[in-house]
Amino acid sequence: MKGTKVYLSLGSNIGNKFYYLLSGIFKISKIKETRVAKISNFYSTNPVGYLDQDLFLNCAIEIETNLSPRELLTKIQGIELELERVRTIKWGPRTLDIDIIMFGELEIDEKDLVIPHKEYKERDFVLIPLLDIIEDKKIEEIKTYIKKEKTGVVIEKKKKVLVSRCLLGDRVSYKKNHCNNYIFKLLEKQLEIIKMCPEVDGGLPSPRPSAEILGDKVVNIIGEDRTKEFKLGGEIAAKLSQKNNIDLAFMKGHSPSCGLGKVYDGTFTKNIIDGNGIAVSRLLELGVSIIEVNEDE
Ligand code: SF4
Repeated sequence: MKGTKVYLSLGSNIGNKFYYLLSGIFKISKIKETRVAKISNFYSTNPVGYLDQDLFLNCAIEIETNLSPRELLTKIQGIELELERVRTIKWGPRTLDIDIIMFGELEIDEKDLVIPHKEYKERDFVLIPLLDIIEDKKIEEIKTYIKKEKTGVVIEKKKKVLVSRCLLGDRVSYKKNHCNNYIFKLLEKQLEIIKMCPEVDGGLPSPRPSAEILGDKVVNIIGEDRTKEFKLGGEIAAKLSQKNNIDLAFMKGHSPSCGLGKVYDGTFTKNIIDGNGIAVSRLLELGVSIIEVNEDE
């Protein structure tokens, strides 16, 4: 998809900051007629203005979109709301802040929408991530705005995370298929990915009969009880996360192992009910934040 090239800046300084930034990026990738093209490194940055608050985590992304600036702004504000943005003080703490920095070559000066962003040239925490991804013809211009002493903007080391193997293109699903999501390819420099497939790790083959959670058991479509294998897979995921000090996992939605919040109801009729997959339940017990991911559309 080719659309207008747009640069966004993302920042978070409450709770699991990687969770908020990465959730924001995956949600942006789901906006209609929009594709994430590049993701900068993640940077730890000092707060500006109101100083009595935690460090920020910042990054910049390049997207391509066919939406208008105002349509995009509405979508972005919706994502901030979904991720419970809390902002009571100007410059104060927030779960996730997403700013439109540039929108192609457009210039807009309206009350609630100024493009290019009116303060970006003063903000090293925007400029330095932007340098990682900005198109070549703008690099020299961006460099001129960065203050000589790049204090307080420090590149983060790779973040260790757990990821459902099928999201990475491994054919481990019950149909011996995968649910590849392209965003992980854009995050190779930023994430140290530990792959796992709780069902295969628990001893099940691929392909295998589909299974669903039914009460406190997991049964497959031919009536076999697979609770033991699913529980073992959940324990292996829990051990992996403890061994590697994992506090963030990307899990495939709706699966009886990896689903978050919604799972099939055990009737094999595609009916969805509230609930978590077996492995996700174990990870949540350990305090791991979960980002639910589905395949590219
Ligand atoms: Fe394996 Fe989880 Fe993907 Fe199912 S959803 S194939 S259990 S990684």
